[in-house]
Amino acid sequence: MAPRLPIVPVDTSLVVGFRYACRPGCGLCCYAEPLVPPADRLPLLRRVPEIHLVARGRDEFLAARPEGGACQLLAGNRCRAHPVRPAPCRQFPIAAHLGGRLQATVVLSCPGVDLAGLGAYRGPASGDPSPDFDEELAALRGRIDAGTPRRLAEGLRRRDRLRREFARDGRWEEEEEVRARFRRAIPDAGPEEFPAEAPPARADGLEHLPLSFDGRDGPVAWAAGLGGWELWELRPDGGTAGPVGVASPPTRPPPLSDAGRRSLQGYLRYWLDRDLLFGVVHLAMLEGSDGTVGAWVEAELRSIAALVLSRASVRATIQRGSVDRLTDDDVLAGIRATDQDLLDRPTWGSPL
Ligand code: SF4
Ligand code: SF4
Repeated sequence: MAPRLPIVPVDTSLVVGFRYACRPGCGLCCYAEPLVPPADRLPLLRRVPEIHLVARGRDEFLAARPEGGACQLLAGNRCRAHPVRPAPCRQFPIAAHLGGRLQATVVLSCPGVDLAGLGAYRGPASGDPSPDFDEELAALRGRIDAGTPRRLAEGLRRRDRLRREFARDGRWEEEEEVRARFRRAIPDAGPEEFPAEAPPARADGLEHLPLSFDGRDGPVAWAAGLGGWELWELRPDGGTAGPVGVASPPTRPPPLSDAGRRSLQGYLRYWLDRDLLFGVVHLAMLEGSDGTVGAWVEAELRSIAALVLSRASVRATIQRGSVDRLTDDDVLAGIRATDQDLLDRPTWGSPL
């Protein structure tokens, strides 16, 4: 008899309202080394016997090509093992955070996700997600195993320890109180949040650079250059196809169109509803000696806004030469260039 899998509900309320269709020729999510769960190993080996797996701890990953290249199975921007690609690839662009619950969220860096409605986002919605995500959510549910309830319980224990520690100093605030407060007045990035980030150097390794899709053959990587930020097109086989352009990052918040501001605020509201935000904030609070949860969330939202505007501004400047106002499309491109990096930050919870 097959072992009974634990029942762990997946909160999909942050998926409701989005539409999605993978964009042929994109390949952005394949510039990675995906985890190969044990159940996916044999089907993959049967289809491509020569695959190169790398072990890290007890897990195995599909090796990417060196120098920032794509996964070894990407050929002509298509997956050579598409029907048997490992679960994390089937699941993308859904990411799941295991904290006090298993919460699914949409990775907004994926250019197949329609962001047109983001400006109208007000909070988690009830109802069923679009069938566009049926396969991805099935892959996510398929990853729930005997260890998932244990990891959830451990997450809750960690959160309780943090609550006790911060409550002693009067720093603790419950998520829902903080969410309600900031939903009413979402913070803006101020001049003090700029410059938003120091660009990493290309010499740090192409595989460590932030990536985004820009309609080219490979993703563009963001790196430090003489003029501030440079964009480089990555090649699937490794290395770069050359610079796309260079631009200085803004030193104060760039002016925004009304539609651009609505999209940015919708994005920040979406972040507010991600449990991962609180996982990141609680962890950061351990390093800082003061400030309540609300104060740290405000700082985090302001820094997210600054990051989006900074990358949007660099990209728009490279495309148009000069920018007097960021359009809605600019802001959405800034969100796409930012979301995956922000989702990858450490938290006290864990990804599924
Ligand atoms: S990033 Fe999105 S659109 Fe691009 S290949 Fe991956 S799933 Fe498809
Ligand atoms: S296994 Fe296929 S889908 Fe997954 S990263 Fe590699 S090429 Fe992309």
